[in-house]
Amino acid sequence: MFKNMRLHPKITFAFVTTVIITAMIIIIIANISTNFIFKDFVVQYRTVRLEQWADIFTVHYIQKGGWEGIEDIFEEPGHRRGRGGRLLPGDQIMLADDGGRVILDTRDPVSDNRMLSKTALAGGFPIQVAGIRVGTLFLNPAAPQGTLSLEEEFSRSVTGAILGGGVIAVGLAAVISLFFTRKIVSPLYRLNAGVKEFARGNYKTRVIVDSQDEIGKLGEAFNFMADSVEKSEELKRNMTADVAHELRTPLSILRGNLESLQAGVIEPDPQVISSLHDEIIRISMLVNDLQDISLAEAGKLNLNLLKTDVEDLFNKVFQTFQYEIFLKRIKFEKNVFQEHLILKIDRDKIMQVLINLLGNALRYTPKGGKIVLGAEIKGAHVVINVSDSGPGINSEDLPYIFERFYRSRKEYPKKDGGSGLGLAIARSFIEAHGGYIWVKNNTQRGSTFSFSLPYTASQSSE
Ligand code: ADP
Repeated sequence: MFKNMRLHPKITFAFVTTVIITAMIIIIIANISTNFIFKDFVVQYRTVRLEQWADIFTVHYIQKGGWEGIEDIFEEPGHRRGRGGRLLPGDQIMLADDGGRVILDTRDPVSDNRMLSKTALAGGFPIQVAGIRVGTLFLNPAAPQGTLSLEEEFSRSVTGAILGGGVIAVGLAAVISLFFTRKIVSPLYRLNAGVKEFARGNYKTRVIVDSQDEIGKLGEAFNFMADSVEKSEELKRNMTADVAHELRTPLSILRGNLESLQAGVIEPDPQVISSLHDEIIRISMLVNDLQDISLAEAGKLNLNLLKTDVEDLFNKVFQTFQYEIFLKRIKFEKNVFQEHLILKIDRDKIMQVLINLLGNALRYTPKGGKIVLGAEIKGAHVVINVSDSGPGINSEDLPYIFERFYRSRKEYPKKDGGSGLGLAIARSFIEAHGGYIWVKNNTQRGSTFSFSLPYTASQSSE
């Protein structure tokens, strides 16, 4: 039943049920306390009153030497003030003498021959003078019934009041819960509709967020997810166009040159052949890059894990770029915080990552700038940083920089820019090793690309 119920009636139902249960518990507790505490109170109160009246009658008996003139007792102001005995509205006082004859009754006129049975006398309050029972006093002889009805009446009116209050509370609870659940649930309905629309492929769907509570945060999270899915879908859609675009330039160069050779416009001299060769290399590099990425994304990249000294890797990558570093008069620093830091990695792949990162750093760092290559142990990882003093990354590019073919708009038209695959390859290689890659802009100038690789101390000592 609950499974198929919508949230709105479910919350209202829970609310109203809680109020009903609360009212029922209060009614039960009130009834129990009425029965126990109130009954006890009534009995005690009755006893105290009986004792007070008994005192008054005893004094009269002693003073008058018998029960004569007992009816006048209610005329005497003394019993009202001094002793506390008092006739309350509806009270009935009855007195029987030592023989059991009724000699006083405040409700029914006394007749001479009204005798009380022994059992009836046993239920009365004995009046004793000098240890001898001279009479029996009754306060509201119909008491057992009367007392009970008083309790019952009290208990009934309490139950009635609680029931009345309960009905009002249930009504109020229903109205309030309808109002609040509508407030709670309507953003969820909107979110639900948004998710369905998004699942249908409308990646532009966003939901309106009008609160800062958990549901509002859920809406924000959905919008954030929708932003990145939309962006990566766009990148995916553009992938084919990007591949075509990347291939077009080298292919048209090849075609132009080959046609010119065929037409005899140019001679097949070593320079022409070398430029044709360069274009072929560009194409095969692109195809290799794409293959690596798709293999890594499919989890099919074969890693040839070998123990590798980080310092050696750094030296090798430095040698690769030595000439460029020299030409651009770059200040190059190397910080490895531990000697013989050994990692179990696929050397070629990590070397490729370092080449991509250092290549970018060199591309974007102006002449005379600074590049720092560092490695440090952080828990179960070694973090390698490539920091440069270039322009840094635009904040709008930051979330997408590791996507395939993503190039900053600023850099896009530039000829010396790469294919936009360098960082995507780096990410897929690092993730295949079980690590992470990320970038941060430096507080001063430039950016720092970092990646982590799993590390255990035993790797270095083995
Ligand atoms: P490419 O091969 O075109 O450089 P990448 O994937 O390596 O592609 O880089 C993507 C984009 O990231 C570049 O177009 C550039 O805008 C930006 N980028 C990468 N490295 C740096 C860096 N060190 N400093 C500034 N921008 C960078």
